[in-house]
Amino acid sequence: MALLITKECISCGACLPECPNEAIFETRSDAEAKGNHVTGWLGIGDSIYVITHDRCTECVGHFDEPQCASVCPVDDCCVPDPSYPEPREALIEKAKRLNPDKEIHADKGWSKVRG
Ligand code: SF4
Ligand code: SF4
Repeated sequence: MALLITKECISCGACLPECPNEAIFETRSDAEAKGNHVTGWLGIGDSIYVITHDRCTECVGHFDEPQCASVCPVDDCCVPDPSYPEPREALIEKAKRLNPDKEIHADKGWSKVRG
């Protein structure tokens, strides 16, 4: 279902514009103010960027690998969220629901999808 951003984040901002689902926010407060949820205590205090599991599809339906992890300059900063595994089919449906005006590619996605 989702990746998460670890406390190693240096808030460089590189990931935010790359997300095809608008699942990344500069602060947890901003994500929550827009009705989204963030895993555990990540981003409390608004010191790091966050991913909301409500909108992340692990880039399934859009790209062959998660774009946030691809552009992040920090190793192991954008990683799978163990709390939210979801099968590939569910991620495709989620991508369609979130992006009614975009073409969703059922063959796009990485090999680490869980669930
Ligand atoms: S894995 Fe893809 S959809 Fe999820 S936050 Fe990263 S860029 Fe966005
Ligand atoms: S690219 Fe990495 S270090 Fe930069 S804001 Fe995103 S998660 Fe944080």
